[in-house]
Amino acid sequence: MKNASPVGKRTKCDVLVVGGGPTGCMAAAGMARELDVKVLEEHPRLGEPVQCAGLITPRVVEMASAEDTVLNTIDGAYLHFPGGRVMELQGNEAKAVVVDRGEFDRRCAALARKAGAEVLTGTKVGPLERTDGGLRAITVGGELECRAVLAADGYRSGAARSLGLGTARDLVRGMEVDISFRADDQRKVRVFLGNDVAPGFFAWAIPCGELTRVGLCVSRDRGTPLEHLNRLLNAQGWSGAERVRTYSGAIPLGYIDRTYADRVLVAGDAAGMAKPISGGGLFTGMTAGKLAAQTFLEAFRSGDLTERGLLKYEERWKGVFGDELRSSYRVRKVFVRMCDRDLDKVGDRLDNERAKAVLATGDIDFPTALARGLVRACPSLLAIAPMLLFRLLWR
Ligand SMILES: Cc1cc2nc3c(=O)[nH]c(=O)nc-3n(C[C@H](O)[C@H](O)[C@H](O)COP(=O)(O)OP(=O)(O)OC[C@H]3O[C@@H](n4cnc5c(N)ncnc54)[C@H](O)[C@@H]3O)c2cc1C
Repeated sequence: MKNASPVGKRTKCDVLVVGGGPTGCMAAAGMARELDVKVLEEHPRLGEPVQCAGLITPRVVEMASAEDTVLNTIDGAYLHFPGGRVMELQGNEAKAVVVDRGEFDRRCAALARKAGAEVLTGTKVGPLERTDGGLRAITVGGELECRAVLAADGYRSGAARSLGLGTARDLVRGMEVDISFRADDQRKVRVFLGNDVAPGFFAWAIPCGELTRVGLCVSRDRGTPLEHLNRLLNAQGWSGAERVRTYSGAIPLGYIDRTYADRVLVAGDAAGMAKPISGGGLFTGMTAGKLAAQTFLEAFRSGDLTERGLLKYEERWKGVFGDELRSSYRVRKVFVRMCDRDLDKVGDRLDNERAKAVLATGDIDFPTALARGLVRACPSLLAIAPMLLFRLLWR
């Protein structure tokens, strides 16, 4: 059985994809029609454990042809500022959907298998070594020799580290629970800001019918996510609701210095590609996965798997979302320094019809594109973070 066999004593392939998440599987789906591709996933079941709120744009659902994993559609938000202001935002269209993340990942793996990739579960990849004509991976089942590797093994990325490609600059730790509580407004997420609520990031409550997904992330050195989550549940009167499912994880922020080397590419969380403002990493990871596949295909065709031949990959992903990651990392650096009074000032300046009309047009995959419109709608924002806004306007 092609898709369930363990790695044999000595196996070979063209490209080894380390990690069977959406990034690795999208990459495999993009190159397995032409190359012999193996995806190795350490967990016994693809998509488990879930470490995600599952909030993505419709374009990401389309990338995975995963329309049937959608649980709800979102077209607006309530922003809760620390001082008590609640600002309602109504989008001009469906802004995001909530997906069943486990099913979503299995849909991505199905695309990889359909294209001809072998996706093996319960197979952890140990350190990678370079050999004369490629690379060697040690797994529990034996050794695997390949001509190239895609490191798509998430935020801890042992693969990228063992090949000397570094780790993301920053990290936030997160926790969330699905509680038995039906939110009144099923079309809007709630976002909670403040240093007591979620220091260094934010908290959220996402309606999913009879359940509400409540979670948050916090900066590494600012207490445990669990203690903040319990406090939020109490404050919102949700502590008595049944906790149906609990998730935890971490989000790497600030992409690594170099995402390519001889015979190696790094993509998704392994490369620190999650969006620094929202923590969303599916759009960027899956896009990078597709671009990695395109680059490997060209490199195999031309026989040039050197870092010069693979450099194009980095140019490609930076061409799609490099600016956005760089700009939103700057926004994050200013955001983490803001005290609650500063956050309330931002709320005060944004809570007007002109600013809300700009926010209504926003795209959560490219949030900093709103900077120009927001400054035009409320020039007084410049007084709060002048350097940041000038840099966003003149990038
Ligand atoms: C609390 C939380 C909420 C989030 N909410 C959202 C959200 O709403 N929207 C969004 O877009 N993003 C969200 N994210 C981020 C998103 O989950 C990640 O960006 C996304 O999963 C990245 O995909 P990936 O394939 O790069 O990595 P992963 O999904 O982490 O996949 C990597 C895979 O590699 C496997 N692996 C690791 N090491 C090895 C090894 N040595 N051998 C074999 N396999 C290995 C892992 O088991 C894993 O399956 C959230 C993250 C957290 C923590």
